[in-house]
Amino acid sequence: MDKILVVGAGFMGSGIAQVLAQSGYQVYLMDIQLAITDRALGNIRWSIEKLEAKALLREPSQKVLARISPVKDLSKASEVDWVIEAALEEEDLKRSIFQELDRISRPETPLATNTSSIPITRLAENTKQPERVLGLHFFGPVPLMGLVEVVKGEKTSPKIFERGVTFVQSLGKTAVRVQRDIPGFVMNRIFSAAFREAVDLVDQGIVSAEDVDVGMRLGYGWNAGPFEIADNAGLDTFVRVAKTMRALGAGYLAPGSNLMERMMAEGRLGRKTGKGFYRYSAEGKRLPWENE
Ligand code: NAD
Repeated sequence: MDKILVVGAGFMGSGIAQVLAQSGYQVYLMDIQLAITDRALGNIRWSIEKLEAKALLREPSQKVLARISPVKDLSKASEVDWVIEAALEEEDLKRSIFQELDRISRPETPLATNTSSIPITRLAENTKQPERVLGLHFFGPVPLMGLVEVVKGEKTSPKIFERGVTFVQSLGKTAVRVQRDIPGFVMNRIFSAAFREAVDLVDQGIVSAEDVDVGMRLGYGWNAGPFEIADNAGLDTFVRVAKTMRALGAGYLAPGSNLMERMMAEGRLGRKTGKGFYRYSAEGKRLPWENE
């Protein structure tokens, strides 16, 4: 059985760990504190048991959960067949994680990042073997979303890139190949073009966030509106992505207004803090913001 180290046990890392375990991989889930991996395991248990109750799990939930082991540092990198990094969207942090992974892991182990926006080439820059670094950009919530962008850094070898595609398929997901490494890759750039306009229109008082979401659902057939997507993903991640876009010459894809920064200052990070563009009940039900 292939072993995989997932670095970061937040919204994405926990979802990735769950999908890996459901696909039969042995997973080590690492974060900076065991309290965080414990919380992640609690969320994974909840999600897997829900799938089991709906008869959507192929094996007993206990068997799937038993494949995930929490770890408190990167030392397992020396034993695993894949590493997937899903830590905070901060370039310096990710660079230092990749340097350490490069040092600890076996030379043939592919090192993947789930970054939303930072070019793979920059994260691989200080590694001795940039040819084994690639992007595997999952979409959240990972257990529900079928897409993964496989991103080729300037130095990623064609072999590792194709291994990335095969690996994604082994998870029952569909891979989109991103052949050249640009900030935000493909899907986030296209989404950001719409989202940037949506944020600016709401900040100017032209429309409410809820009406934009209704409009995009009914008018364009989106399954979820842009503000529902942002609340689920976390506004802090969106703000970091916008910062990267601005820093790397794609500022036209970032909102002109600072609405999300102001919301963050009020603790409105989205679903994870119970309030964002919407409010959320203790059971996670989405409620309109105005009804507070
Ligand atoms: P998150 O804030 O939920 O989780 C990030 C986790 O990284 C936290 O648990 C934090 O403790 C951990 N972390 C911080 N420093 C670390 C270190 N040195 N080693 C290990 N873990 C560390 O964020 P998220 O939404 O899960 O995003 C994680 C990554 O996935 C980011 O790069 C983000 O851009 C990307 N991403 C996010 C989404 C989304 O919808 N939120 C979608 C695709 C990709």
